[in-house]
Amino acid sequence: MTVVNATSVDEVLHALVELPEPRLVAGGTDMMVEVNFGRHRPGDVVSLRQVRELRTWHRNDDGSVFIGSGLPYRVMEEGELATLLPALAQAARTVGSPQIRAAGTLGGNLGTSSPAGDGLPVLAALNAEVHLRSLAGDRRVPFSEFMTGVKKNVARADELITGVTIPRTAGFQAYAKVGVRNAMVIAIASACFVHDETTNTVRLALGAVAPTIVRCSEAEAFLNAELAKAQPMTDTVLDQFKDLAAQSARPITDHRSTAEYRRHAVAVLARRLAERAFDVA
Ligand SMILES: Cc1cc2nc3c(=O)[nH]c(=O)nc-3n(C[C@H](O)[C@H](O)[C@H](O)COP(=O)(O)OP(=O)(O)OC[C@H]3O[C@@H](n4cnc5c(N)ncnc54)[C@H](O)[C@@H]3O)c2cc1C
Repeated sequence: MTVVNATSVDEVLHALVELPEPRLVAGGTDMMVEVNFGRHRPGDVVSLRQVRELRTWHRNDDGSVFIGSGLPYRVMEEGELATLLPALAQAARTVGSPQIRAAGTLGGNLGTSSPAGDGLPVLAALNAEVHLRSLAGDRRVPFSEFMTGVKKNVARADELITGVTIPRTAGFQAYAKVGVRNAMVIAIASACFVHDETTNTVRLALGAVAPTIVRCSEAEAFLNAELAKAQPMTDTVLDQFKDLAAQSARPITDHRSTAEYRRHAVAVLARRLAERAFDVA
């Protein structure tokens, strides 16, 4: 086995095409579980831990935020980044334990592409773009086109996820999840709700209730139409929003939960987050 402790993106990209069986590892919190359970035997390993340019974030001139794929959750939980992206901070705080949040990265969440990944509904609701780089060049893929199935995405074997760009959205944003306990838990159902004050429109993304992250277009359209009426928000409207959100889910029954409970839980989350965004008459 060859282990490359890369220190630059360029080194990573060369390793991806030159090694016979390269496997990227960032925090290792997903990959090492696979190895420990015997589900994966890495051929060659390319470590991203020392690639500094992946472990940073910055604000662009247009107010959008770029987050490097190697930035650990710990950095997203508090400080300036948490103020800019509160929903991402909330999601980051729910990931595993402090040890997992010190090592785990958004790039790894994207690389694994589990529908239960806590970062992913936030990227969906905030209309993030994923940056992919190979020796052939760069491309940016809207998150809505990135995930194609359970643990499947459009990144090619020679591509590195370098980060995400999250456009600026003024207004309420929040993330919540349901699990079998209050901490150290993979989501049974999760939701990210955003109210864009500039356009007075909402966005809702659901996690762990379908093979990919779901954007609830019908629920969004319904609530947008209600908001356009400029009347006080009511319980009746939020109940209809919740029901439409649940209809977008395509949950399964597995070792974590039943499909029925997942559908119920995601509806509760959708309503709860929307209720926090508006004063209900
Ligand atoms: C105890 C425990 C608790 C956990 N709890 C949660 C939780 O609550 N919520 C949650 O969402 N997840 C949880 N996880 C899963 C994991 O921590 C996250 O998915 C995390 O984001 C993975 O990041 P990583 O950097 O450790 O990924 P790694 O394990 O290093 O990599 C994961 C996959 O992504 C690929 N990859 C990594 N970086 C890149 C890149 N830059 N470009 C392309 N491919 C890349 C790797 O090749 C690998 O296939 C938990 C894991 C453990 C062990």
